[in-house]
Amino acid sequence: MSYTNKQLEQWDKEYVWHPFTQMKSYIQNNPLIIEKGKGSYLFDIEGKAYLDGYASLWVNVHGHSDPELNSALHEQIEKIAHSTLLGSANVPSILLAKKLAEITPGNLSKVFYSDTGSASVEIALKIAYQYWQNIDSQKYKHKKKFISLDEAYHGDTIGAVSVGGMDLFHRIFQPLLFERIAIPSPYTYRMNEIGNEEEVKQYCLKRLEELLQTESEHIAGLIIEPLVQGAAGMITQPHGFLKEVERLCRAYDVLLICDEVAVGFGRTGTLFACEQEQVVPDIMCMAKGITGGYMPLAATITSDKVYNAFLGNPEEHKTFYHGHTYTGNQLACSIAIKNIELIEQRELVKDIQIKAKAFSQYLSKLYELPIVGDIRQRGLMVGIEIVKNRKSKETFSVHEPIVNQIIMIARSKGLIIRELGPVITMMPVLAMKQEELQQMVDIVYQSIEEAISHYTSVQ
Ligand SMILES: *Cc1c(COP(=O)(O)O)cnc(C)c1O
Repeated sequence: MSYTNKQLEQWDKEYVWHPFTQMKSYIQNNPLIIEKGKGSYLFDIEGKAYLDGYASLWVNVHGHSDPELNSALHEQIEKIAHSTLLGSANVPSILLAKKLAEITPGNLSKVFYSDTGSASVEIALKIAYQYWQNIDSQKYKHKKKFISLDEAYHGDTIGAVSVGGMDLFHRIFQPLLFERIAIPSPYTYRMNEIGNEEEVKQYCLKRLEELLQTESEHIAGLIIEPLVQGAAGMITQPHGFLKEVERLCRAYDVLLICDEVAVGFGRTGTLFACEQEQVVPDIMCMAKGITGGYMPLAATITSDKVYNAFLGNPEEHKTFYHGHTYTGNQLACSIAIKNIELIEQRELVKDIQIKAKAFSQYLSKLYELPIVGDIRQRGLMVGIEIVKNRKSKETFSVHEPIVNQIIMIARSKGLIIRELGPVITMMPVLAMKQEELQQMVDIVYQSIEEAISHYTSVQ
């Protein structure tokens, strides 16, 4: 099929419905069409290079077109691309499950595969609910609700949306959702009335404990994004918060589900975020970084305790009736194995810790700019909250889309980043070099400066 760049642009607007995108505005602009990637860079169809400052939506680990990952994929495809896990097994899915059991914290050891983060969450929720039913459906018949945090994001399928707390995305679907109970999120920057970080932490934990005291017999599980609530705008949790959440879940017989979809595979400076607080969830969800950004794959891993509740004779109906057609796909699993091997061989986690320190120094320079209200960082996961007024923390109105302008200016300067509401997010490719991280920050600095010059209202 032959085509011109112009035709590609036209067909993109004519045939492709983009995710999370108001297509009416989208078709009025020139689309960014990516053709190639190499290392930390993406290249569009005109050959223009961009630093991949969003890791191609938080997935890329070793850089684009990594020779070793490429050959792992070639090697596997010469054998087979796909066969099913329903009633049969395959080699890469076995080896990967064993590897995941080894690298995840504590006694997490039973891997259920799927293909998107949302599916990994759906699976976790269904497992958590059925777990209590399988143990004692009389005693636990009321255990059917879930707790999650304000502003939580766990994906876009209906179950994942049900435990989500992002009003903007989820409001319209309210009538379709099952019930969740929200607890406050420790969003220190915007909880002045509560106090400092420690006081915010105590306040949120107290609310959780009060809830558990009265409601725990109705609650199957609590789901949380450990350390950082990503899609909410990189809300970083106070130290010790997650550990206390774990303690409360244990004390009140509620399963703890850690959604490591965004934070897993090194992003926050440890392989998994919950390691930083020695937390071992009952169920853990993984996706984004699992294949290094190569293939759609997700996994839900559980402890033996959870898994064992599903064992029984067929007539006991303890089976977990769930599965997706591409569950355990060989191409995806083989690339995930290689991704993890390379993380180990290249000592990437240690490298991330070193780079995160340097990154933090570069980032602090952004406070020179009057509209930078808050910089939040864990590892190579960063949110910069933009405010109109530093004192009042007032944000710009929808009629003053300065954050989007910053993003677009940065793009023209060769950096792709994204915004989440008033927050500029920086999620570099994990293998990005220190100079490239510095360059990212420089471009963001210049872009903010340039955007400010268009606004007279900045105080
Ligand atoms: C991205 C994300 C999901 C959803 O993953 P998809 O692959 O987009 O379905 C779930 N949870 C968290 C924390 C995420 O960041």
